[in-house]
Amino acid sequence: MDGSTFPEIRSTCPYCGVGCGVLLRADGQGGLDVRGDPDHPANRGRLCSKGSALAETVGPEGRLLTPRIGGQQASWADALGLVADKFRAAIDRYGPDSVAFYVSGQLLTEDYYVANKLMKGFIGSANIDTNSRLCMASTVAGHKRAFGTDTVPGTYEDLEEADLVVLVGSNLAWCHPVLHQRLLAAKQARGTRIVVIDPRRTATCDGADMHLALQPGSDVALFNRLLAMLYKGGLVDRRFLRHTDGFDAALKAACADDTGVTGLSDAQIDAFCQLWLKTEKVVTVFGQGVNQSSSGSDKVNAILNCHLASGRIGKPGMGPLSVTGQPNAMGGREVGGLANMLACHLDIENPDHRTAIRDFWQAPAVPDASGLKAVDMFRAVGDGRIKALWIIHTNPAVSMPDADIVSAAIKGCDFTVVSDITAATDTARLADVLLPATAWAEKDGTVTNSDRTISRQRSTLPPPGQARPDWAILAEVGRRMGFARAFDYTSPAEIFREYARLSGIAGRFGRDFDISGLMDLTDADYDRLLPTRWPITETRRGGRFFGDGVFFHGDGKGRLIPVTYRAPAAQTGPRFPLRLNTGRVRDQWHTMTRTGLSPRLSAHLAEPFLEIHPVDASAYGISPADLLRVISPNGQAILRARITDAVQPGQVFAPMHWTGETAPSARIDALVAPVVDPVSGQPESKASVVAVTRF
Ligand code: SF4
Repeated sequence: MDGSTFPEIRSTCPYCGVGCGVLLRADGQGGLDVRGDPDHPANRGRLCSKGSALAETVGPEGRLLTPRIGGQQASWADALGLVADKFRAAIDRYGPDSVAFYVSGQLLTEDYYVANKLMKGFIGSANIDTNSRLCMASTVAGHKRAFGTDTVPGTYEDLEEADLVVLVGSNLAWCHPVLHQRLLAAKQARGTRIVVIDPRRTATCDGADMHLALQPGSDVALFNRLLAMLYKGGLVDRRFLRHTDGFDAALKAACADDTGVTGLSDAQIDAFCQLWLKTEKVVTVFGQGVNQSSSGSDKVNAILNCHLASGRIGKPGMGPLSVTGQPNAMGGREVGGLANMLACHLDIENPDHRTAIRDFWQAPAVPDASGLKAVDMFRAVGDGRIKALWIIHTNPAVSMPDADIVSAAIKGCDFTVVSDITAATDTARLADVLLPATAWAEKDGTVTNSDRTISRQRSTLPPPGQARPDWAILAEVGRRMGFARAFDYTSPAEIFREYARLSGIAGRFGRDFDISGLMDLTDADYDRLLPTRWPITETRRGGRFFGDGVFFHGDGKGRLIPVTYRAPAAQTGPRFPLRLNTGRVRDQWHTMTRTGLSPRLSAHLAEPFLEIHPVDASAYGISPADLLRVISPNGQAILRARITDAVQPGQVFAPMHWTGETAPSARIDALVAPVVDPVSGQPESKASVVAVTRF
């Protein structure tokens, strides 16, 4: 059949949290044509290199086509029966907290909702966590402390209405390229000033007016200086502050903090602060450089403090904006995919919220305390407390800190299930049972992007082999575990309607996440659903939060949080003299299971590398392109030397995408210590200490 006879289908890019709309057309030979959706509000037709290469990544090569038990092909009935039996046996013998799910921001909201309902409502444990823990858990914690809920106040349009955009710990040009394109277009149109705050000179600095190469982890001290200068300059918004508590304590902490730790000169700090102070329309975008830190939550609150104190929040062109790494990190936060949250932004510690969820689900039990966050979860796998583990669409044997230890822990677990589209990941190789799941272009459901816009993903290609949607796999296990009525779903639309109904209950508790305006969608309405920013109720659709001074703490007020600088947990010294920063490259995604299929994308940066400053390279006798052995207290990696002054002396940078079955490999997270932020549980992925020698 000629490809043009297939209809063009609206869907969403499966990579970063920008959430670009795509138009897909099957070519009739198992492939796709892909173009940007001109009508999607996130991208208006634009795509970045990864999105443009999507068609190259959907082939059947490497797909897992049938369930496997112990590496052998098995029927769905046998595989799902075994999963249900093993989980049931562990729960009966050791209790509900002896099992765990580790899921992913790659899941669609409907998949996520069913996984969360099964674990938190029916198994009766909160041991479900997501790889979003590695991505933006510190933002969740910071938002909740300041606002009372995990609410993104603004929208992408704010980037185009701001006069100053501050990018903190964000290489937007490579990690959220379409947002960066929108920002550069705004700069051209209205002269938006751009400041980049990052220890490393990245591609994002090319379009910036100012780059502050601060010392890793010192963001709190910088934003504390800004808060102090807001006060001294008489620019605190006293009327807005009436809607908040905590200003005096936050100011006292800020004034006591020492900006010497930033490594920036007073002139640099003053120039930044003056620009901020004299510009009313300021947006502060923050990414993984803020989140992936043992003081990540404090960094977030230091930024939020400045926006709250100046009233620059929830108004056009003003406010903080967290950019999420994954396509549905936000959807996962909304359904309660983190171990310390309930669905629809209800709180696990709140007995009324727990009762409401339990009644709604008619569930036997809803846990009254947080479950194990990712790092603790894999510790519990390693020491035998977790007897049965289900890993869904993520590769923790590569991506978790202390990856060698995590890999050994998964291997030693009594029973591990992995749902994925391929058997060729480091984690899938360790599974007792492998379940073939549908991939991006075969799935139906919804995702939420970084500015709260819910978009449909629509299936365009038939699933290969026996692959099934995740919601269907999870629901079938739920039914086999004895919860037939609660998991009797027949379509993602049905799940979405239930979820929207639940959000209406959350709305009655005064929660921010309310999409009850969608609870009566027919299947056809759901199929036609256009990108829509939440909240979506009878009386409200989209918009910004907090410009009116209404917050979600019990007293309706926002909170400024007193924070002071804390150094990264690991300190450099004679054995490990270099500070390791990690991050993404422009054309790869996570552990490359999809982008690695595109020769075009792999051509950008073809192999794993370590950026090192010329001064350090000279000191260690390193020449360009040398192979290096990089050693941390936790592990080793072998990387190619790239000598560049984009990194500061004493600091090195390595991308986190590459994998490897045996150590030493290029698995960067084998080098990263499992140190976490005490509030958010997010690992400190950007401040390890290492030594480097020629290989
Ligand atoms: Fe996909 Fe993100 Fe690129 Fe948009 S910016 S096309 S969502 S990877």
